[in-house]
Amino acid sequence: MVWFVGAGPGAEDLITVRGRRLLEEADIVVYAGSLVNEGLLKNVKKECRIYNSAYMTLEEILDVMICGEKCGKRVVRLHTGDPCLYGAVREQMDALKEAGVSYKICPGVSSFSGAAASLEAEYTLPGVSQSVVITRMAGRTPVPKGESIRSFAAHRATMVVFLSAGMLDELSEELTAGGYEPDTPAAIVYKATWPDEKVLRCTVAELGGTAKKHGITKTALIIVGNVLEGTYERSRLYHPQFTTEFRTGN
Ligand code: SAH
Repeated sequence: MVWFVGAGPGAEDLITVRGRRLLEEADIVVYAGSLVNEGLLKNVKKECRIYNSAYMTLEEILDVMICGEKCGKRVVRLHTGDPCLYGAVREQMDALKEAGVSYKICPGVSSFSGAAASLEAEYTLPGVSQSVVITRMAGRTPVPKGESIRSFAAHRATMVVFLSAGMLDELSEELTAGGYEPDTPAAIVYKATWPDEKVLRCTVAELGGTAKKHGITKTALIIVGNVLEGTYERSRLYHPQFTTEFRTGN
């Protein structure tokens, strides 16, 4: 069995209990070295073999996982955050299936949750935004037509932009061209939940300048939307007049 495990956003103790147990039991760990906190590897067995996938191709990673599993080893593929976002896991799962190797996924805390905690933010505020758009700028990996930042910005919902810290002037332009006011609150969260985390609040127009001033070009999330500042409506659920399955309103 190969386990895909979400390592969490950075802090060593933000892996799930299940993920930690799987790491402790693993004979082979292949971890995404560019973003996974190496402190997590302290919990592995002494004889565990560790591979850093930052230096490997998909074919090499599959080789390690498939050979390991076929030799009866417990294999963990450790991905940053939650594997379901920008994890390149589907291609690994499909190849494992083809090779007759079974696998399971252990979710993790995504960096977008880590960033919300660092910002003390609620992404979904009544009367402000009830949706979160998770997206990225097109880079070396293109974004399908119809998913432009500009088109999502027209909704003025909360946006969390991954993999785009090096393109923030362009991001600002796209956001404003789409419909966000230039003074819409925004934030750059660099290395959310790591010891050297930086939380920088600014506006949509100031994103590029703020990142430049603090030397941020990668490992950051951009959060945009009026949920970061200003007014909102109180929740209906906890309103004294609201009746639910559990409570009668007055
Ligand atoms: N699966 C991961 C995302 C991997 S893509 C997750 O769920 O978080 C890599 C991108 O994620 C980075 O370029 C950056 O935009 C973001 N990222 C990952 N960890 C981060 C962190 N601790 N703080 C801020 N952004 C992070």
